[in-house]
Amino acid sequence: MTADIPGQHGMRRIGLFGGTFDPIHYGHLAAAWHVRQRLGLDAVWLVVANDPWQKRGGRVITPAATRLGWVRASVDGVDGLEASAIEIDSGGASYTIDTLTTLRAAHPDTAGRVVVGADTAPALDTWPRAEELRSMVEIVVVNRPTTQGVEVPAGWRHRHVPIPALDLSSTELRSLSAEGLSLRFLTPEPVALDIETSAVFS
Ligand code: ATP
Ligand code: MG
Repeated sequence: MTADIPGQHGMRRIGLFGGTFDPIHYGHLAAAWHVRQRLGLDAVWLVVANDPWQKRGGRVITPAATRLGWVRASVDGVDGLEASAIEIDSGGASYTIDTLTTLRAAHPDTAGRVVVGADTAPALDTWPRAEELRSMVEIVVVNRPTTQGVEVPAGWRHRHVPIPALDLSSTELRSLSAEGLSLRFLTPEPVALDIETSAVFS
């Protein structure tokens, strides 16, 4: 593991990796794992959005508790990856700025970075209270096969962490599942089995 962030003394170094995770897949897990390794973070938290404001008004989103259950099952026993219910516990719309503020109040010993995929990074200025967030965090951008390069709007402190990115998306998994196909080997086994049994995307 290469610890290339000096980190404030005694602080727990966390990466906040937010998403809808509907469902979680190995693309998310590989990204989280490689960010943790490359930056020598203590943990990467997969923060499950309660009410993903960017995705409102489209398809029906799977209940947050179910999505959280999938993330929990995926990281069970994995050292350094954790499922976070912080946004679900807060309720309402899920804004990263609120999540970060809650986190810092509850754990003052935590230095948090926000991890996003290359498809998400260009829209950072559209996030609620973007200016405030911009002044608080460093953004960690991971490459994604569907997006060319890594682009971050001006003014954000950021770094690109290169990962062996997998060409997977939740959209593709939902559509495979809707066709009646199993999601084995695209997401951890318990998640694939649960989706098959519950037929949630059928
Ligand atoms: P959907 O297709 O429903 O949008 P998704 O696969 O993009 O799902 P999200 O929950 O929207 O998953 O994404 C959460 C975060 O994970 C975002 O920052 C996104 O850029 C990142 N991400 C998702 N899939 C990958 C991947 N294969 N490689 C790298 N980053 C990813
Ligand atoms: Mg997405």
